[in-house]
Amino acid sequence: MIRLAFATILLACSALGHTAGFDYKLAANEVRPGVFVVSGVNDDLTFENGGNILNTGFIVTGDGVVVIDAGPSRLYGEQLVALIGQTTDEPIVRVYITHHHPDHFFGLQAFDGVEHAALPQTINDLRLLAEGYSDNMYRLIGNAMLGTEIVLPTLAASAGTLEIGSRKLELLALSGHTESDLAIFDTTSGVLFAGDLVFHARAATTPHADIEGWQASLKTLDSLGFEVLVPGHGPVSENNAPIVETASYLDWLSGTLASAADAGLSPAEVMFIPVDARFRNLAVVTNEFQRSVVHLYQALEAALLPATETQ
Ligand SMILES: [Zn+2]
Repeated sequence: MIRLAFATILLACSALGHTAGFDYKLAANEVRPGVFVVSGVNDDLTFENGGNILNTGFIVTGDGVVVIDAGPSRLYGEQLVALIGQTTDEPIVRVYITHHHPDHFFGLQAFDGVEHAALPQTINDLRLLAEGYSDNMYRLIGNAMLGTEIVLPTLAASAGTLEIGSRKLELLALSGHTESDLAIFDTTSGVLFAGDLVFHARAATTPHADIEGWQASLKTLDSLGFEVLVPGHGPVSENNAPIVETASYLDWLSGTLASAADAGLSPAEVMFIPVDARFRNLAVVTNEFQRSVVHLYQALEAALLPATETQ
């Protein structure tokens, strides 16, 4: 009886320990002087990774720190704020959210007294979708979401040059991964934060994708003459290989779905089309391909139906 009670207390303690502080073990990697990337794992959202599947970053400008993306939860945001505090004495002045997907913005809650900026369409999308994202994230990453509340960006960002401290940041209002994707190019250091327009060694996610627009945005990014490329997910690169990889995967994906629709395959049949050998080494590619069938296939099938008379 006593032993059972003791075991129960131990269990309760370990559960409490877990809920009280999921430790993301965040580390800042300085890719160019004063420009830092905080990397997650290339995986699906799980309880084990607490949603830390993305890259966030921050730029020390000489006149405050600019942060790119806030991470998947309040705890991630708090741990990112602490990490920035350990890295520089400069205060955080602004957080940019690159797009409306939940792994990128729930950490905003931790950035008190700081401007929260995003493209206007991203703010609109978050107004509509954040509630549903919150439910979903609690289901997918569990205790890591503890105490996370919705905090929306309030400052509408626009494309153009932002001169801050010693830096000249180019803000690019693009689209394709979602309706509005912000990329931030620090022209001073040559570091490009591409957001989820670029995936590296991981299959792209497509719940809000417009693949044609996405390909156009990738061409824009490729033309910028960056030295360091920080994808939304996956390893940092010093060349454009992740852009080429994302573009070829999207090309294969849209081509495969279009031929399947032409051939009249059902969604269930399309799900079992084998992933092309060039992409089988991408993380979570089978899962993402199947999700993409759900996201994109119905519209392709509908486009093939004869137009109906409307008058
Ligand atoms: Zn995304």
